[in-house]
Amino acid sequence: PKRHIKARIFLPHLVASMEEVEQTYIMIKPDGVQRGLVGEILSRFEKKGFKLTGLKLFQCPKELAEDLHCSLVSCYVFLFFVLGFATLEPRPEGLSETTSLPPRGSGKVCEHYKDLQSKPFFPKLIDYITSGPVVCMGWEGVGVVASARKLIGATNPLNAEPGTIRGDLAVQTGRNVVHGSDSPDNGKREIGLWFKEGELCAWTAVQEPWLVE
Ligand code: ADP
Repeated sequence: PKRHIKARIFLPHLVASMEEVEQTYIMIKPDGVQRGLVGEILSRFEKKGFKLTGLKLFQCPKELAEDLHCSLVSCYVFLFFVLGFATLEPRPEGLSETTSLPPRGSGKVCEHYKDLQSKPFFPKLIDYITSGPVVCMGWEGVGVVASARKLIGATNPLNAEPGTIRGDLAVQTGRNVVHGSDSPDNGKREIGLWFKEGELCAWTAVQEPWLVE
């Protein structure tokens, strides 16, 4: 620990470039929650030595209008207004005009996966992520972005190495249990997207000097 402090005082630029403390957004997808894998997945990041900065269970809102018992006429009136408002609702940023709108309230998920909006599996992906609660997590640490991606494993669980989360716990790309940011910039962006101000904690872990010299 002492050497670490000295290095930071005398070689701040060198130390910063070798040991970049990063933030990443990890999300346990609805299949991970439903299958009771929350503790197992969370513990892998904890045991590795990363620091939890945010944690919450979150259900992306589903479609409205499920419990409506109305007469034919009032249904028409209702549909007129709902469709009217649906067309007024701002299209989630980045969603092309040709992509059919996913359920109302799923804008956060669309924004999160905006780079994939042109893929044929995009509507199914939105349905999957909004199909049940997800666990949103912010993790911090030296090199945490790339390291978390290694802990998670390949997108297709059948190609993921044994020992990785997807390699050990999943079998199909469409049910691959966990998300991890793919760059430090996206880590910050996704944490900002899924967490509100005040939901994140900056804290000092007592184990830090035993993890980073
Ligand atoms: P990763 O999650 O490993 O970063 P991508 O960014 O390529 O992978 O894809 C995001 C998510 O989209 C994947 O984790 C998976 O849930 C889903 N996905 C990707 N490719 C497919 C596919 N071919 N079929 C169904 N879902 C897919």
